[in-house]
Amino acid sequence: MTNEELWKAVLGEMELSLPRANFTTWFKNTSIINKADDSVVVSVPNGFIREWLENKFNKQIIQSIRNLSPEVRDIKYVVGKPKIDLTRQDLSKIILDNELENKNEMVPDADIDKNTNLNKKYSFGSYVVGSNNELAHAACLAVTKNLGKLYNPLFLYGGVGLGKTHLLQAIGNEILNLNPAKKILYTPAERLTADIVEAIRNKTIEELKNKYSQLDLFIVDDIQFIAGKEKTQDIFFSTFNELYGKNKQIVISSDRPPKAIPALEERLSSRFEGGMIADIGMPDFETRLAILNVKLANKSCVLDNEILTYVATHIQKNVRELEGALNRILAFNQIYNKIPDIKEVKNILNAYLSTPYRKTSPPVILKAVVDFYNISLNDLIKRSRKKEVVKPRQVAMFLLREETKLSFPEIGQKLGGRDHSTVIHACVKIKEESSVDEPLKQELVLIRERIYNSFEK
Ligand code: ADP
Ligand code: MG
Repeated sequence: MTNEELWKAVLGEMELSLPRANFTTWFKNTSIINKADDSVVVSVPNGFIREWLENKFNKQIIQSIRNLSPEVRDIKYVVGKPKIDLTRQDLSKIILDNELENKNEMVPDADIDKNTNLNKKYSFGSYVVGSNNELAHAACLAVTKNLGKLYNPLFLYGGVGLGKTHLLQAIGNEILNLNPAKKILYTPAERLTADIVEAIRNKTIEELKNKYSQLDLFIVDDIQFIAGKEKTQDIFFSTFNELYGKNKQIVISSDRPPKAIPALEERLSSRFEGGMIADIGMPDFETRLAILNVKLANKSCVLDNEILTYVATHIQKNVRELEGALNRILAFNQIYNKIPDIKEVKNILNAYLSTPYRKTSPPVILKAVVDFYNISLNDLIKRSRKKEVVKPRQVAMFLLREETKLSFPEIGQKLGGRDHSTVIHACVKIKEESSVDEPLKQELVLIRERIYNSFEK
């Protein structure tokens, strides 16, 4: 029995037990998109319907599926197009839709402590240290051991999704572990402003100031958002001075250094500069790979190195995106009950692939190859048959083919007017060898890294 037949049978039963209008509302555009062992994946058109099917009809649906397929125990409902034969685009769209759905339905996180705003999931233990964040990490750790005495304030800055919030929260959690009696408050600057505005309106501003001044550790995330907010800056300034005077710790983050925050009063930026400033940069390839491994360790899914390497190679600038990419792959795994192959991974990640991927140009590729193998461009292109250049040349052909839209004859042209059959031979050879030859596979990863990195500068 095909999935289609099975679903038709289920719909037939449901139709009998429901008023016509209801039936159409809940079951229009639904279908089974996957069935594996004991679980079935049903595609539904939107989150509203998913909720109804999950909460109201699940029992009945399972019952009628099991009449025909007794092994089924579990149904997953996913939002997506009800096509039986999914194209790759549909696939990534479904996964994307589900992600968006989940975001919209986000409920207040139960893991966040209401008093401190700390979320236990952020710890030093789960933070991967690389050359990009070594200093920031060390400074944060030092602060936990010398609260208020060593680096005060501590000011972290760096681009979006690079781990500032994680480190700030880790400080709070660590202090709480060491001494649960410590008074800690983590607050994003936007929330700080909102709280201050509300307190002014309710005439409770003295209470709020009083609450801040009792803290042992005050963490303000994304301080750039108080730019231009005079009242917030005012209150923060007096709180800062009071805490600082009592050797209480202040930790701040921003997307840029203090002096570069526009409309931030000079008296504040110079206070920030009086402490310790540490920046967080973009993680290198090894760090990205390590982060993926750490994030994967808590999930019940095993991905092979090729996939992880692919993700780490292509997503470079933002750890949040790196995590997002991993989650998409895991979603695929959940929905289809199989590990995606590398082609599917490419499709799943299409949305994340940074434009450099598409902008890669032949000269960049050739330069990466000659730099990597330490040969001259002239040797690569010339009709030399020296062994040292034959392999790099084949690698260059292979990468030109994989990373650009050039045809085989065009690639031959770029490499000293070689025949297209030579290029085809090289591409096939490198492709085959790289699947069994581990060192060659690694070489390709490293050369690709050079290619993409050359766009970052
Ligand atoms: P930022 O505050 O700088 O925008 P976040 O701290 O929110 O970034 O980090 C985004 C995501 O990436 C979080 O889920 C965080 O746990 C993760 N992350 C960032 N850097 C690291 C790292 N070095 N090790 C482990 N996870 C990291
Ligand atoms: Mg943040």
